[in-house]
Amino acid sequence: MASTRQSKKKKKATKYIFVVGGVMSGVGKGVASSSIAKILQARGLTVTAIKIDPYVNVDAGTMNPTEHGECFVLKDGLETDQDMGNYERFLNTDIPGNNYMTTGSIYQAVISKERNLGYGGRNVQVVPDIPAEAIRRIKKAGELASADVVLIEIGGTVGEYENILFIEAIRMMKTETPDDVAVVMVSYLPVPGSVGEMKTKPTQHAARTLGASGVFADIILARAPVPVDQKRKEKIATFCNVRVENVISAPDVESIYDIPLNFEKDNLSDRLCDMLQLSCAKKSDLSDWKRFVSKSKNTKDVVKIAVVGKYFSSGDFVLSDVYISVLEAIKYSAYKLGLKPEITYLSAQDFTDRKNLKNLKKYDGVLVPGGFGSTGIDGKLNVIEYVRKNRIPYFGICYGMQLAVLEFARNVLKKKEASTEEINPKAPDLVVAVMDDQKEKIAKADMGGSMRLGQYPAKLRKGTIVQKAYKKEEVLERHRHRYEVNNAYVAELENAGVIFSGKSPDGRLMEIMELPQELHPFFVGVQFHPELQARPLDPHPLFTTFIKSAYESK
Ligand code: GLN
Repeated sequence: MASTRQSKKKKKATKYIFVVGGVMSGVGKGVASSSIAKILQARGLTVTAIKIDPYVNVDAGTMNPTEHGECFVLKDGLETDQDMGNYERFLNTDIPGNNYMTTGSIYQAVISKERNLGYGGRNVQVVPDIPAEAIRRIKKAGELASADVVLIEIGGTVGEYENILFIEAIRMMKTETPDDVAVVMVSYLPVPGSVGEMKTKPTQHAARTLGASGVFADIILARAPVPVDQKRKEKIATFCNVRVENVISAPDVESIYDIPLNFEKDNLSDRLCDMLQLSCAKKSDLSDWKRFVSKSKNTKDVVKIAVVGKYFSSGDFVLSDVYISVLEAIKYSAYKLGLKPEITYLSAQDFTDRKNLKNLKKYDGVLVPGGFGSTGIDGKLNVIEYVRKNRIPYFGICYGMQLAVLEFARNVLKKKEASTEEINPKAPDLVVAVMDDQKEKIAKADMGGSMRLGQYPAKLRKGTIVQKAYKKEEVLERHRHRYEVNNAYVAELENAGVIFSGKSPDGRLMEIMELPQELHPFFVGVQFHPELQARPLDPHPLFTTFIKSAYESK
């Protein structure tokens, strides 16, 4: 009896919060979405988050990072947008590949279903079948996470052709279950210098454009250089058809980690809970987060880290988004140690000229992040040689590890012609070579989503720098590469001092290399991307050990 009654009891409905952009992109929609997810999580709700990218690429793996920013690899190996990294960092949780979709991936699924007669012979149409596939995945995300709330960020801005089918998905869901869906529009309110007043007109137009698609914002997040005053909140409310208490001020902030706290100043979680009839078990508890934010602001001693990458310069601008997870990982570890990180972006290309190498003396530690292809390689190799010889703490990630091995082969083993197969497949000593299972993929130009991707285990060697840092014998880290240290050279490298302190459990893949601490305070290269698992409330032990050693060897 009891069980029948139980099963008859209505399951609590999952709620869906859509976040769309108004006026222009690049005003922090991803961080706003992460922050909304965070404040709801702090109310004791189970929250998961989705990013929808409107481009035709099936995933973010094939896009040039200077155009699209960092490619964030999820635990299950999907190559996604950097916003997924923000979600994982803010929510302190792993997110599955189901929660990332692009126009390309949706069409691919619909077309393959059609080819398999999955639509039973009927006419398959852009509407409703494309939004319906997006809705299917959105609902699945709720199920996979047993979520009370699913947050869905739609890339781009309202009024674009590209995201219209996803706006249509909102309309369809809202028509079906109006009480379970809320729409947040992140808009921008400029304060033109010549006028000196905050202008609401672009936001009014954005609200009207969204309305033309049959979707109305329930909440307007007013991004602006300064807080939005009551008068403008009232104006937005009148012209954009929202209640004045649902206009939330989102001024520029010193740190993105302030944003959840700022949202709560305008009671955003209460607003959302009321609107969606969400019964929150508890009052907002952001105490861990507040502690982290306050620690990040109360650091004294500086630690200077140089990140040497090839993607920094873009015309007259410097792009740091390409390495966002690396930069954030450095910060979390520095804050944990009570240090103020001063991160400098250096272009690898500038170090092709050895004269510039002495500039590296200014830094306490140097990091070479992941990368592809031959641009900036000579510069990176020169940097690695310099920091090895000058005992400047070095952390090499993925390409940064492969190049550390290559530098060692060239300058210590004196194999002057050594190379990586990625740059020069004809070189006599390929100390870094293509992985066996990658050969066929490269030959067939099967390049999308085909690298060694996602989480794999590594066994650590006792007593090494990394084993002491992790305090574990085996670790799981996320990967994204096609090449690896060539086993034919492992013995020779080891005899000359390289320690392969982490290997795949079968011993065939060199996952971590380091140099003995008698020779160098911290010289570590990892084949994986530890930055992808660094979280504000849970910094990554390798970054922490690197930063500590950088600070101590000042
Ligand atoms: N280009 C190298 C490879 O494919 C390194 C990749 C990376 O740094 N993510 O193996």
